[in-house]
Amino acid sequence: MEKIASLVKRRGFIFQGSEIYGGYQGFWDYGPLGVELKNNIKREWWKSIVYSREDVVGLDAAIIMNPQVWEKSGHLKALSDPLIECKICHKRFRDDQKASHEHDSWTKEKTFNLMTEVFLGTTEPKEKSYLRGEITQGVFVNFKNITDSTRIKIPFGIAQIGKAFRNEITPGNLTFRSREFEQMELEYFMKPDDQGSKETFEYWKDKRVKWYESLGMDKNKLRFKDHEPEKRAHYAKYATDIEYDAPFGWSEFEGIHHRGEFDLKNHNLTYKDELTNEEYTPWVIETSGGVDRATLFFLINAYHEDEKRVYLKLNPKLAPYKVAIFPLLSNKLELVSKARDLYLLLKSRFLSVAWDDRGNIGKRYFAQDEIGTPWCVTVDFQTLDDDSVTVRDRDTAKQERIAIDKLSDYFHNKIGI
Ligand code: ATP
Repeated sequence: MEKIASLVKRRGFIFQGSEIYGGYQGFWDYGPLGVELKNNIKREWWKSIVYSREDVVGLDAAIIMNPQVWEKSGHLKALSDPLIECKICHKRFRDDQKASHEHDSWTKEKTFNLMTEVFLGTTEPKEKSYLRGEITQGVFVNFKNITDSTRIKIPFGIAQIGKAFRNEITPGNLTFRSREFEQMELEYFMKPDDQGSKETFEYWKDKRVKWYESLGMDKNKLRFKDHEPEKRAHYAKYATDIEYDAPFGWSEFEGIHHRGEFDLKNHNLTYKDELTNEEYTPWVIETSGGVDRATLFFLINAYHEDEKRVYLKLNPKLAPYKVAIFPLLSNKLELVSKARDLYLLLKSRFLSVAWDDRGNIGKRYFAQDEIGTPWCVTVDFQTLDDDSVTVRDRDTAKQERIAIDKLSDYFHNKIGI
């Protein structure tokens, strides 16, 4: 974990928030490479959940909502119990549940409200409101707006990515437990049906774990952890977490929840089937992933080292830079100008392309390996003769010679975008 923590800072993936003022516990900033990686994860998620389907639409709801939303959703009450937190696994319990827990290292009991309060207005008394503790409620309160303004019909889903805030008492493990974080969530609405909803729940479990695998997460480091009935939210019919085998133990980074009719009922919302005129409260299956936790686990999963080098084996779709371009020598004008043309050409197609003309080629490979750039292209003297370049693969360190006019399609096919 220290190696990852050092690499992400050194290479500009993740910085401690407000670092020059000593940091601020539970807040993180994503640097030039971190923002690319995180955006790539969000884009792939959106492609898989929204663009590749006809039954899901997107939403971007406000972070601050009318406080009544949180009263109705149960968050103000549910999240204001006196709780203690296990310092090892960060699970929270009431004091009387302590004995049954596997660890014995506790924070002091406190009335614990996860919701972050904000005060609005310019005159006293200011109006108390909250930063959202989960992005989910924005979807439910817009349920009617969406069914009224689109032609979507049940079963359908609403997808959203956005920031959420929780007053965590023990933030830690880099970005794993933060006070400000991002979620990517799908709420999938369906007609109440025990068997059908169980199948939909299983369908999304499978779909979500395969998505992580398709982007390179090691199958052996992923598992489902069903919520025990006594720990499950009272309204949840089924709930499971996708966990990753992190250096600090198996840890949740996405939850799949069968929320039944709970939320729409809280907000007094129903659905009317236009064909049959039947009116009912739909059931909801939710997939709720943490963007920051996924980013962290993709980084941990990608980290490889051997006797010669450290490299991040990130899926090319996620890698911050798709390709790096090097002129063999920085003081030979013809090489630099040819490399520059190639750099601009590839940048126009792949957007995120690195340029490096410092030091020797070995050092440049070393630097690109550490940030996970899948291919390095060197423009050398042979390029001036035959318009071919050397393409070096990050994972195998093998090199091949490719004609410049084939290069763009070559990368396009390899990346698979
Ligand atoms: P935990 O038990 O770890 O606190 P949770 O069960 O409360 O998590 P959910 O409410 O199900 O989490 O939120 C869905 C997802 O949002 C989580 O799987 C996680 O990826 C992300 N998430 C929740 N809390 C945090 C946090 N404090 N920091 C970063 N990500 C978080």
